[in-house]
Amino acid sequence: AEEEVLGLLVGAVDQGTTSTRFLVFNSKTAELVSHHQIEITQEFPREGWVEQNPKEILLSVYECIEKTCEKLELLNIDRANVKAIGVANQRETTVVWDKITGEPLYNAVVWLDLRTQSTVENLNKRIPRNNNFVKSKTGLPVSTYFSAVKVRWLLDNVKKVQKAVEEDRALFGTIDSWLIWNLTGGTKGGVHCTDVTNASRTMLFNIHSLEWDKELCEFFEIPMKILPNVRSSSEIYGLMKVGALEGVPISGCLGDQSAALVGQMCFQDGQAKNTYGTGCFLLCNTGHKCVFSDHGLLTTVAYKLGRDKPVCYALEGSVAIAGALVSWLKNNLGIINRSHEIEELAKEVGTSYGCYFVPAFSGLYAPYWEPSARGIICGLTQFTNKCHIAYAALEAVCFQTREIWDAMNQDCGIPLNHLQVDGRMTDNKILMQLQADILCIPIIKSSMPEATALGAAMAAGAAEGVGIWNLELDSLSAFTMERFEPQINAEESEIRYSTWKKAVMKSMGWVT
Ligand code: ADP
Repeated sequence: AEEEVLGLLVGAVDQGTTSTRFLVFNSKTAELVSHHQIEITQEFPREGWVEQNPKEILLSVYECIEKTCEKLELLNIDRANVKAIGVANQRETTVVWDKITGEPLYNAVVWLDLRTQSTVENLNKRIPRNNNFVKSKTGLPVSTYFSAVKVRWLLDNVKKVQKAVEEDRALFGTIDSWLIWNLTGGTKGGVHCTDVTNASRTMLFNIHSLEWDKELCEFFEIPMKILPNVRSSSEIYGLMKVGALEGVPISGCLGDQSAALVGQMCFQDGQAKNTYGTGCFLLCNTGHKCVFSDHGLLTTVAYKLGRDKPVCYALEGSVAIAGALVSWLKNNLGIINRSHEIEELAKEVGTSYGCYFVPAFSGLYAPYWEPSARGIICGLTQFTNKCHIAYAALEAVCFQTREIWDAMNQDCGIPLNHLQVDGRMTDNKILMQLQADILCIPIIKSSMPEATALGAAMAAGAAEGVGIWNLELDSLSAFTMERFEPQINAEESEIRYSTWKKAVMKSMGWVT
Protein backbone atom coordinates (compact mmCIF):
# COMPACT_ATOMS: atom_id res chain seq x y z
CA ALA A 1 0.00 0.00 0.00
CA GLU A 2 2.90 2.32 0.87
CA GLU A 3 4.32 1.86 -2.64
CA GLU A 4 0.96 2.65 -4.15
CA VAL A 5 0.79 5.98 -2.32
CA LEU A 6 4.34 6.79 -3.44
CA GLY A 7 3.40 6.04 -6.99
CA LEU A 8 0.42 8.33 -7.29
CA LEU A 9 0.87 11.37 -9.52
CA VAL A 10 -0.98 14.61 -10.17
CA GLY A 11 -0.69 16.59 -13.40
CA ALA A 12 -1.07 20.31 -14.04
CA VAL A 13 -1.50 22.39 -17.15
CA ASP A 14 0.17 25.80 -16.76
CA GLN A 15 -1.00 27.90 -19.69
CA GLY A 16 0.87 31.21 -19.39
CA THR A 17 1.23 34.26 -21.64
CA THR A 18 4.54 33.14 -23.12
CA SER A 19 4.36 29.36 -22.85
CA THR A 20 2.30 26.28 -22.12
CA ARG A 21 3.58 23.63 -19.74
CA PHE A 22 2.36 20.29 -18.50
CA LEU A 23 3.95 19.10 -15.25
CA VAL A 24 3.58 15.95 -13.22
CA PHE A 25 4.16 15.93 -9.45
CA ASN A 26 4.47 12.97 -7.12
CA SER A 27 1.91 12.83 -4.34
CA LYS A 28 4.36 12.02 -1.56
CA THR A 29 6.71 15.01 -1.67
CA ALA A 30 5.00 17.20 -4.31
CA GLU A 31 8.26 17.19 -6.25
CA LEU A 32 8.36 17.48 -10.02
CA VAL A 33 8.59 14.12 -11.81
CA SER A 34 8.45 15.19 -15.45
CA HIS A 35 7.30 18.06 -17.63
CA HIS A 36 7.19 19.51 -21.11
CA GLN A 37 7.03 23.10 -22.31
CA ILE A 38 6.12 24.84 -25.59
CA GLU A 39 6.45 28.57 -26.33
CA ILE A 40 3.31 30.38 -27.52
CA THR A 41 3.16 32.96 -30.30
CA GLN A 42 1.96 36.45 -29.40
CA GLU A 43 0.66 38.53 -32.29
CA PHE A 44 0.74 42.33 -32.31
CA PRO A 45 -1.49 43.12 -35.32
CA ARG A 46 -1.71 46.83 -34.51
CA GLU A 47 -0.18 49.17 -31.99
CA GLY A 48 -1.53 48.25 -28.59
CA TRP A 49 -3.22 45.05 -29.78
CA VAL A 50 -2.12 41.67 -28.40
CA GLU A 51 -3.66 38.44 -29.67
CA GLN A 52 -3.06 34.71 -29.50
CA ASN A 53 -4.48 31.84 -31.52
CA PRO A 54 -6.81 29.76 -29.27
CA LYS A 55 -6.19 26.70 -31.46
CA GLU A 56 -2.42 27.02 -31.06
CA ILE A 57 -2.91 27.25 -27.30
CA LEU A 58 -5.11 24.14 -27.27
CA LEU A 59 -2.74 22.13 -29.49
CA SER A 60 0.19 23.13 -27.28
CA VAL A 61 -1.67 21.70 -24.28
CA TYR A 62 -2.35 18.40 -26.09
CA GLU A 63 1.28 18.19 -27.18
CA CYS A 64 2.67 18.98 -23.73
CA ILE A 65 0.51 16.22 -22.22
CA GLU A 66 1.60 13.68 -24.87
CA LYS A 67 5.30 14.57 -24.56
CA THR A 68 5.22 14.47 -20.76
CA CYS A 69 3.61 11.01 -20.87
CA GLU A 70 6.35 9.83 -23.26
CA LYS A 71 8.95 11.16 -20.81
CA LEU A 72 7.21 9.27 -17.98
CA GLU A 73 7.55 6.09 -20.01
CA LEU A 74 11.29 6.67 -20.41
CA LEU A 75 11.42 6.89 -16.60
CA ASN A 76 9.53 3.57 -16.40
CA ILE A 77 6.57 5.30 -14.80
CA ASP A 78 3.08 4.17 -15.77
CA ARG A 79 0.92 7.10 -16.95
CA ALA A 80 -2.04 5.35 -15.33
CA ASN A 81 -0.63 6.66 -12.03
CA VAL A 82 -1.71 10.19 -12.98
CA LYS A 83 -4.92 10.41 -10.95
CA ALA A 84 -6.01 14.01 -11.43
CA ILE A 85 -5.26 17.08 -13.51
CA GLY A 86 -5.38 20.76 -12.53
CA VAL A 87 -5.45 23.80 -14.80
CA ALA A 88 -3.72 27.12 -14.13
CA ASN A 89 -4.02 29.78 -16.80
CA GLN A 90 -3.17 33.32 -17.86
CA ARG A 91 -6.13 35.31 -16.60
CA GLU A 92 -8.54 37.73 -18.32
CA THR A 93 -7.52 36.66 -21.84
CA THR A 94 -10.80 36.28 -23.71
CA VAL A 95 -12.05 33.68 -26.20
CA VAL A 96 -15.47 33.44 -27.87
CA TRP A 97 -16.15 30.24 -29.79
CA ASP A 98 -18.94 28.40 -31.63
CA LYS A 99 -20.31 25.50 -29.58
CA ILE A 100 -21.59 23.66 -32.69
CA THR A 101 -18.36 23.70 -34.71
CA GLY A 102 -15.93 24.15 -31.80
CA GLU A 103 -14.17 26.90 -33.80
CA PRO A 104 -12.97 30.12 -32.15
CA LEU A 105 -14.80 33.12 -33.66
CA TYR A 106 -11.82 35.44 -33.27
CA ASN A 107 -8.30 35.30 -31.89
CA ALA A 108 -7.93 35.34 -28.11
CA VAL A 109 -7.73 38.96 -26.95
CA VAL A 110 -4.84 38.91 -24.48
CA TRP A 111 -4.98 40.62 -21.05
CA LEU A 112 -2.33 43.18 -22.11
CA ASP A 113 -4.37 44.33 -25.12
CA LEU A 114 -5.24 48.06 -25.23
CA ARG A 115 -7.83 48.21 -28.03
CA THR A 116 -10.67 48.84 -25.57
CA GLN A 117 -9.25 52.11 -24.27
CA SER A 118 -12.03 54.32 -25.73
CA THR A 119 -14.70 51.82 -24.59
CA VAL A 120 -13.26 52.10 -21.08
CA GLU A 121 -13.31 55.90 -21.16
CA ASN A 122 -16.97 55.91 -22.24
CA LEU A 123 -17.97 53.38 -19.59
CA ASN A 124 -16.16 55.32 -16.88
CA LYS A 125 -18.24 58.40 -17.72
CA ARG A 126 -21.37 56.40 -16.94
CA ILE A 127 -20.26 55.35 -13.44
CA PRO A 128 -21.38 57.79 -10.71
CA ARG A 129 -18.37 59.06 -8.73
CA ASN A 130 -20.12 58.56 -5.42
CA ASN A 131 -21.33 55.08 -6.32
CA ASN A 132 -18.70 53.06 -8.13
CA PHE A 133 -20.81 49.91 -8.28
CA VAL A 134 -18.31 48.16 -10.57
CA LYS A 135 -15.52 48.51 -8.02
CA SER A 136 -17.69 47.61 -5.02
CA LYS A 137 -19.09 44.48 -6.70
CA THR A 138 -15.99 43.24 -8.54
CA GLY A 139 -13.04 44.72 -6.62
CA LEU A 140 -11.69 46.04 -9.95
CA PRO A 141 -11.33 49.44 -11.64
CA VAL A 142 -12.82 49.64 -15.15
CA SER A 143 -9.73 49.00 -17.25
CA THR A 144 -8.72 47.47 -20.60
CA TYR A 145 -7.18 44.69 -18.50
CA PHE A 146 -10.37 42.75 -17.66
CA SER A 147 -12.49 40.47 -19.86
CA ALA A 148 -15.84 42.30 -19.93
CA VAL A 149 -14.57 45.12 -22.15
CA LYS A 150 -12.82 42.63 -24.43
CA VAL A 151 -16.08 40.73 -24.93
CA ARG A 152 -17.83 44.08 -25.48
CA TRP A 153 -15.31 44.85 -28.26
CA LEU A 154 -15.87 41.44 -29.90
CA LEU A 155 -19.64 41.94 -29.82
CA ASP A 156 -19.30 45.42 -31.34
CA ASN A 157 -16.73 44.65 -34.00
CA VAL A 158 -16.82 41.01 -35.09
CA LYS A 159 -19.76 39.98 -37.31
CA LYS A 160 -19.17 36.27 -36.71
CA VAL A 161 -19.48 36.84 -32.96
CA GLN A 162 -22.69 38.87 -33.31
CA LYS A 163 -24.24 36.20 -35.54
CA ALA A 164 -23.27 33.34 -33.24
CA VAL A 165 -24.78 35.12 -30.25
CA GLU A 166 -28.04 35.69 -32.17
CA GLU A 167 -28.11 32.03 -33.19
CA ASP A 168 -27.35 30.90 -29.65
CA ARG A 169 -24.10 29.22 -30.70
CA ALA A 170 -21.61 31.49 -28.92
CA LEU A 171 -19.71 30.58 -25.76
CA PHE A 172 -17.42 32.96 -23.90
CA GLY A 173 -14.56 31.86 -21.71
CA THR A 174 -11.19 32.77 -20.30
CA ILE A 175 -8.42 30.33 -21.24
CA ASP A 176 -9.38 27.89 -18.45
CA SER A 177 -12.91 27.56 -19.88
CA TRP A 178 -11.68 27.18 -23.46
CA LEU A 179 -9.28 24.40 -22.38
CA ILE A 180 -11.63 22.53 -20.03
CA TRP A 181 -14.49 22.63 -22.60
CA ASN A 182 -12.19 21.09 -25.22
CA LEU A 183 -10.46 18.59 -22.93
CA THR A 184 -13.80 17.28 -21.63
CA GLY A 185 -15.19 16.59 -25.09
CA GLY A 186 -15.68 19.92 -26.90
CA THR A 187 -18.57 19.69 -29.41
CA LYS A 188 -19.34 16.23 -28.00
CA GLY A 189 -20.49 17.34 -24.57
CA GLY A 190 -17.65 19.54 -23.32
CA VAL A 191 -18.20 21.14 -19.90
CA HIS A 192 -18.53 24.93 -20.12
CA CYS A 193 -17.27 26.12 -16.75
CA THR A 194 -14.80 28.38 -14.99
CA ASP A 195 -13.71 28.74 -11.37
CA VAL A 196 -14.34 31.62 -8.95
CA THR A 197 -10.80 33.01 -9.32
CA ASN A 198 -10.97 33.31 -13.09
CA ALA A 199 -14.55 34.60 -12.92
CA SER A 200 -13.40 37.33 -10.53
CA ARG A 201 -11.22 38.81 -13.32
CA THR A 202 -14.00 39.26 -15.86
CA MET A 203 -15.60 42.38 -14.24
CA LEU A 204 -18.98 40.59 -14.55
CA PHE A 205 -18.69 38.58 -11.35
CA ASN A 206 -19.95 39.63 -7.94
CA ILE A 207 -17.15 38.67 -5.55
CA HIS A 208 -19.49 38.80 -2.52
CA SER A 209 -22.32 36.56 -3.79
CA LEU A 210 -19.90 34.54 -6.00
CA GLU A 211 -22.31 34.72 -8.95
CA TRP A 212 -22.50 36.45 -12.30
CA ASP A 213 -24.02 39.85 -11.65
CA LYS A 214 -27.12 40.80 -13.65
CA GLU A 215 -26.63 44.54 -13.22
CA LEU A 216 -23.01 44.33 -14.42
CA CYS A 217 -23.96 42.22 -17.44
CA GLU A 218 -26.56 44.86 -18.30
CA PHE A 219 -24.06 47.67 -17.79
CA PHE A 220 -21.54 46.04 -20.14
CA GLU A 221 -24.40 44.74 -22.35
CA ILE A 222 -23.17 41.17 -22.27
CA PRO A 223 -25.70 38.35 -22.72
CA MET A 224 -25.59 36.07 -19.68
CA LYS A 225 -26.31 33.00 -21.81
CA ILE A 226 -22.73 33.00 -23.19
CA LEU A 227 -21.12 32.87 -19.72
CA PRO A 228 -19.66 29.63 -18.29
CA ASN A 229 -20.91 28.00 -15.08
CA VAL A 230 -18.92 29.14 -12.10
CA ARG A 231 -17.52 26.36 -9.90
CA SER A 232 -15.12 26.17 -6.97
CA SER A 233 -11.37 25.88 -7.65
CA SER A 234 -11.21 22.27 -6.48
CA GLU A 235 -13.85 19.77 -7.63
CA ILE A 236 -14.26 17.31 -10.49
CA TYR A 237 -15.42 19.31 -13.53
CA GLY A 238 -15.28 16.39 -15.96
CA LEU A 239 -13.05 13.65 -17.34
CA MET A 240 -10.37 13.96 -20.02
CA LYS A 241 -11.90 12.77 -23.29
CA VAL A 242 -8.80 13.02 -25.44
CA GLY A 243 -5.15 12.06 -25.56
CA ALA A 244 -2.74 10.10 -23.43
CA LEU A 245 -4.59 10.79 -20.18
CA GLU A 246 -8.11 9.97 -21.35
CA GLY A 247 -10.41 9.21 -18.42
CA VAL A 248 -8.45 11.20 -15.81
CA PRO A 249 -10.57 13.75 -13.91
CA ILE A 250 -9.90 17.45 -14.32
CA SER A 251 -10.43 18.56 -10.75
CA GLY A 252 -8.52 21.79 -10.16
CA CYS A 253 -8.79 25.19 -11.79
CA LEU A 254 -7.18 28.48 -10.71
CA GLY A 255 -6.08 31.67 -12.44
CA ASP A 256 -2.27 31.56 -12.55
CA GLN A 257 -1.72 34.13 -9.78
CA SER A 258 -4.12 32.38 -7.43
CA ALA A 259 -2.44 29.10 -8.30
CA ALA A 260 0.96 30.56 -7.37
CA LEU A 261 -0.45 31.78 -4.04
CA VAL A 262 -1.65 28.23 -3.30
CA GLY A 263 1.57 26.67 -4.63
CA GLN A 264 3.59 28.93 -2.31
CA MET A 265 1.38 27.73 0.57
CA CYS A 266 0.19 31.25 1.41
CA PHE A 267 -2.91 29.96 3.21
CA GLN A 268 -2.78 32.34 6.17
CA ASP A 269 -4.23 35.82 6.36
CA GLY A 270 -1.30 38.23 5.71
CA GLN A 271 0.90 35.85 3.68
CA ALA A 272 2.07 37.29 0.36
CA LYS A 273 3.90 36.21 -2.79
CA ASN A 274 5.19 37.95 -5.90
CA THR A 275 5.39 36.17 -9.26
CA TYR A 276 7.83 37.50 -11.89
CA GLY A 277 6.63 36.44 -15.36
CA THR A 278 5.42 38.51 -18.32
CA GLY A 279 4.08 40.90 -15.69
CA CYS A 280 4.53 40.97 -11.91
CA PHE A 281 1.73 40.05 -9.55
CA LEU A 282 1.92 40.52 -5.81
CA LEU A 283 -0.95 38.88 -3.94
CA CYS A 284 -1.59 39.02 -0.22
CA ASN A 285 -4.09 36.60 1.31
CA THR A 286 -6.71 38.53 3.33
CA GLY A 287 -8.59 35.45 4.54
CA HIS A 288 -12.39 35.38 4.42
CA LYS A 289 -12.74 39.13 4.34
CA CYS A 290 -12.92 41.26 1.22
CA VAL A 291 -10.45 44.10 1.84
CA PHE A 292 -10.82 47.14 -0.41
CA SER A 293 -7.76 49.17 -1.28
CA ASP A 294 -7.32 52.91 -0.96
CA HIS A 295 -4.03 52.70 -2.86
CA GLY A 296 -4.79 51.26 -6.28
CA LEU A 297 -4.73 47.56 -5.48
CA LEU A 298 -7.36 45.09 -6.70
CA THR A 299 -9.60 42.95 -4.52
CA THR A 300 -9.85 39.51 -5.99
CA VAL A 301 -10.88 35.94 -5.17
CA ALA A 302 -7.79 34.06 -3.96
CA TYR A 303 -9.31 30.55 -4.03
CA LYS A 304 -12.19 28.38 -2.91
CA LEU A 305 -10.78 24.90 -2.49
CA GLY A 306 -13.96 22.82 -2.65
CA ARG A 307 -17.70 23.28 -3.14
CA ASP A 308 -18.35 23.38 0.59
CA LYS A 309 -15.15 25.20 1.54
CA PRO A 310 -15.13 28.92 2.38
CA VAL A 311 -13.84 31.46 -0.11
CA CYS A 312 -10.60 33.34 0.55
CA TYR A 313 -9.81 36.75 -0.89
CA ALA A 314 -6.60 38.56 -1.81
CA LEU A 315 -5.37 42.07 -2.36
CA GLU A 316 -3.42 42.22 -5.59
CA GLY A 317 -0.88 44.60 -7.06
CA SER A 318 -0.56 44.01 -10.81
CA VAL A 319 2.33 45.23 -12.94
CA ALA A 320 1.75 44.78 -16.69
CA ILE A 321 5.35 44.68 -17.94
CA ALA A 322 8.14 42.82 -16.13
CA GLY A 323 9.60 39.85 -18.07
CA ALA A 324 7.95 41.34 -21.14
CA LEU A 325 10.52 44.13 -20.91
CA VAL A 326 13.33 41.58 -21.14
CA SER A 327 11.55 40.04 -24.15
CA TRP A 328 11.31 43.51 -25.69
CA LEU A 329 15.06 44.11 -25.28
CA LYS A 330 15.57 40.75 -27.00
CA ASN A 331 12.99 40.96 -29.80
CA ASN A 332 12.76 44.67 -30.52
CA LEU A 333 16.21 46.04 -29.69
CA GLY A 334 18.22 42.85 -30.17
CA ILE A 335 20.68 43.68 -27.37
CA ILE A 336 20.37 40.10 -26.07
CA ASN A 337 19.64 36.80 -27.83
CA ARG A 338 18.21 34.91 -24.85
CA SER A 339 16.32 36.28 -21.84
CA HIS A 340 18.91 35.11 -19.30
CA GLU A 341 21.70 37.07 -21.05
CA ILE A 342 20.35 40.26 -19.51
CA GLU A 343 21.99 39.18 -16.27
CA GLU A 344 25.51 39.17 -17.80
CA LEU A 345 24.96 42.59 -19.39
CA ALA A 346 23.73 44.07 -16.14
CA LYS A 347 26.59 42.47 -14.20
CA GLU A 348 29.20 44.08 -16.46
CA VAL A 349 28.33 47.54 -15.14
CA GLY A 350 26.60 46.87 -11.82
CA THR A 351 24.70 50.18 -12.04
CA SER A 352 22.26 51.93 -14.35
CA TYR A 353 24.44 55.04 -14.13
CA GLY A 354 21.44 57.28 -13.58
CA CYS A 355 19.40 55.73 -16.39
CA TYR A 356 15.74 54.96 -15.61
CA PHE A 357 13.41 52.88 -17.78
CA VAL A 358 9.65 53.11 -17.21
CA PRO A 359 8.13 50.29 -19.28
CA ALA A 360 4.60 51.71 -19.51
CA PHE A 361 3.99 49.88 -22.80
CA SER A 362 0.35 49.17 -21.88
CA GLY A 363 -0.17 52.26 -19.78
CA LEU A 364 0.53 51.81 -16.08
CA TYR A 365 -1.37 49.29 -13.96
CA ALA A 366 -1.18 49.35 -10.12
CA PRO A 367 -1.05 51.62 -8.27
CA TYR A 368 -1.59 54.29 -10.95
CA TRP A 369 -4.11 52.76 -13.41
CA GLU A 370 -3.02 55.34 -15.94
CA PRO A 371 -3.84 54.39 -19.53
CA SER A 372 -2.21 57.58 -20.89
CA ALA A 373 1.29 56.52 -19.82
CA ARG A 374 3.81 55.20 -22.36
CA GLY A 375 7.31 53.81 -21.95
CA ILE A 376 10.28 56.12 -21.48
CA ILE A 377 14.02 55.76 -20.97
CA CYS A 378 15.49 58.82 -19.30
CA GLY A 379 18.64 60.09 -17.61
CA LEU A 380 20.77 59.21 -20.66
CA THR A 381 24.25 60.66 -21.19
CA GLN A 382 26.92 60.04 -23.81
CA PHE A 383 28.32 57.48 -21.39
CA THR A 384 25.16 55.31 -21.29
CA ASN A 385 25.43 51.97 -23.07
CA LYS A 386 23.32 48.85 -23.50
CA CYS A 387 24.56 47.41 -20.22
CA HIS A 388 23.17 50.38 -18.30
CA ILE A 389 19.86 50.02 -20.13
CA ALA A 390 19.80 46.31 -19.27
CA TYR A 391 20.45 47.18 -15.63
CA ALA A 392 17.75 49.88 -15.68
CA ALA A 393 15.30 47.33 -17.09
CA LEU A 394 15.89 44.97 -14.16
CA GLU A 395 15.68 47.87 -11.73
CA ALA A 396 12.35 48.90 -13.31
CA VAL A 397 10.87 45.52 -12.39
CA CYS A 398 12.03 46.02 -8.80
CA PHE A 399 10.80 49.62 -8.54
CA GLN A 400 7.39 48.63 -9.89
CA THR A 401 7.23 45.91 -7.25
CA ARG A 402 8.25 48.48 -4.61
CA GLU A 403 5.29 50.66 -5.59
CA ILE A 404 2.79 47.85 -5.09
CA TRP A 405 4.63 46.69 -1.98
CA ASP A 406 4.20 50.13 -0.40
CA ALA A 407 0.52 50.16 -1.36
CA MET A 408 0.08 46.68 0.13
CA ASN A 409 1.68 47.71 3.42
CA GLN A 410 -0.56 50.77 3.66
CA ASP A 411 -3.72 48.78 2.92
CA CYS A 412 -2.86 45.82 5.15
CA GLY A 413 -1.82 47.85 8.19
CA ILE A 414 0.68 45.26 9.41
CA PRO A 415 3.94 45.63 7.49
CA LEU A 416 5.06 42.51 5.64
CA ASN A 417 8.59 41.57 6.67
CA HIS A 418 9.74 39.34 3.81
CA LEU A 419 8.63 38.46 0.29
CA GLN A 420 8.20 34.99 -1.21
CA VAL A 421 8.89 34.94 -4.93
CA ASP A 422 8.47 32.68 -7.97
CA GLY A 423 8.23 32.86 -11.78
CA ARG A 424 10.90 32.33 -14.42
CA MET A 425 12.52 35.74 -13.92
CA THR A 426 13.55 34.71 -10.39
CA ASP A 427 16.37 32.66 -11.99
CA ASN A 428 18.02 36.05 -12.37
CA LYS A 429 20.19 36.51 -9.27
CA ILE A 430 20.93 40.19 -9.96
CA LEU A 431 17.20 40.85 -10.11
CA MET A 432 16.64 39.08 -6.81
CA GLN A 433 19.45 40.99 -5.08
CA LEU A 434 18.22 44.31 -6.50
CA GLN A 435 14.74 43.50 -5.24
CA ALA A 436 16.03 42.87 -1.71
CA ASP A 437 17.96 46.18 -1.89
CA ILE A 438 15.03 48.20 -3.20
CA LEU A 439 12.49 46.75 -0.73
CA CYS A 440 14.99 46.63 2.17
CA ILE A 441 13.63 43.23 3.22
CA PRO A 442 14.77 39.62 2.58
CA ILE A 443 13.56 37.93 -0.60
CA ILE A 444 12.80 34.24 -0.21
CA LYS A 445 12.87 31.91 -3.17
CA SER A 446 11.74 28.30 -2.96
CA SER A 447 13.72 25.47 -4.55
CA MET A 448 10.39 24.60 -6.20
CA PRO A 449 10.16 27.23 -8.94
CA GLU A 450 6.90 25.93 -10.41
CA ALA A 451 4.55 27.39 -7.79
CA THR A 452 1.80 28.08 -10.33
CA ALA A 453 1.62 24.51 -11.62
CA LEU A 454 2.00 23.08 -8.13
CA GLY A 455 -0.95 25.17 -6.93
CA ALA A 456 -3.17 23.84 -9.71
CA ALA A 457 -2.00 20.29 -8.97
CA MET A 458 -2.74 20.78 -5.25
CA ALA A 459 -6.28 21.93 -6.04
CA ALA A 460 -6.77 18.91 -8.31
CA GLY A 461 -5.30 16.42 -5.85
CA ALA A 462 -7.38 17.74 -2.96
CA ALA A 463 -10.72 17.61 -4.76
CA GLU A 464 -13.61 15.58 -3.38
CA GLY A 465 -13.63 12.21 -5.10
CA VAL A 466 -9.87 12.40 -5.77
CA GLY A 467 -8.58 12.69 -2.21
CA ILE A 468 -4.83 12.46 -2.83
CA TRP A 469 -4.05 15.45 -0.63
CA ASN A 470 -5.71 16.99 2.38
CA LEU A 471 -4.42 20.55 2.27
CA GLU A 472 -5.48 21.25 5.84
CA LEU A 473 -3.41 18.36 7.23
CA ASP A 474 -0.67 17.49 4.76
CA SER A 475 2.58 19.39 4.86
CA LEU A 476 3.83 19.80 1.32
CA SER A 477 6.40 22.46 2.11
CA ALA A 478 9.52 20.32 2.20
CA PHE A 479 11.32 22.58 -0.25
CA THR A 480 14.53 24.41 0.63
CA MET A 481 14.61 28.22 0.58
CA GLU A 482 17.18 30.60 -0.88
CA ARG A 483 17.40 34.04 0.80
CA PHE A 484 18.57 37.35 -0.65
CA GLU A 485 19.33 39.89 2.10
CA PRO A 486 19.38 43.65 1.48
CA GLN A 487 22.98 44.86 0.93
CA ILE A 488 22.62 48.61 0.42
CA ASN A 489 21.41 50.98 3.11
CA ALA A 490 17.84 52.19 3.23
CA GLU A 491 18.85 55.81 2.56
CA GLU A 492 20.55 54.99 -0.73
CA SER A 493 17.60 52.87 -1.71
CA GLU A 494 15.17 55.74 -1.00
CA ILE A 495 17.14 58.17 -3.17
CA ARG A 496 17.02 55.79 -6.13
CA TYR A 497 13.33 55.12 -5.55
CA SER A 498 12.44 58.82 -5.48
CA THR A 499 14.25 59.35 -8.81
CA TRP A 500 12.25 56.45 -10.23
CA LYS A 501 9.05 58.18 -9.15
CA LYS A 502 10.16 61.31 -11.01
CA ALA A 503 10.62 59.19 -14.14
CA VAL A 504 7.14 57.67 -13.70
CA MET A 505 5.62 61.16 -13.63
CA LYS A 506 7.33 61.90 -16.94
CA SER A 507 5.79 58.78 -18.56
CA MET A 508 2.24 59.91 -17.83
CA GLY A 509 -0.09 61.89 -20.08
CA TRP A 510 1.85 60.82 -23.16
CA VAL A 511 -1.21 59.83 -25.19
CA THR A 512 -4.48 61.70 -24.89
P1 ADP B 1 4.45 33.73 -18.04
O1 ADP B 1 3.83 32.76 -17.08
O2 ADP B 1 3.88 35.12 -17.96
O3 ADP B 1 4.50 33.22 -19.44
P2 ADP B 1 7.17 33.00 -17.09
O4 ADP B 1 7.18 32.81 -15.61
O5 ADP B 1 7.25 31.80 -17.96
O6 ADP B 1 5.95 33.97 -17.54
O7 ADP B 1 8.39 33.99 -17.43
C1 ADP B 1 8.66 34.38 -18.75
C2 ADP B 1 9.23 35.79 -18.77
O8 ADP B 1 10.40 35.86 -17.96
C3 ADP B 1 9.64 36.21 -20.17
O9 ADP B 1 9.09 37.49 -20.43
C4 ADP B 1 11.17 36.25 -20.15
O10 ADP B 1 11.67 37.33 -20.93
C5 ADP B 1 11.50 36.45 -18.69
N1 ADP B 1 12.73 35.75 -18.27
C6 ADP B 1 12.98 34.43 -18.34
N2 ADP B 1 14.21 34.14 -17.85
C7 ADP B 1 14.75 35.32 -17.43
C8 ADP B 1 16.01 35.71 -16.83
N3 ADP B 1 16.94 34.80 -16.51
N4 ADP B 1 16.19 37.02 -16.54
C9 ADP B 1 15.25 37.94 -16.83
N5 ADP B 1 14.07 37.64 -17.41
C10 ADP B 1 13.81 36.35 -17.71
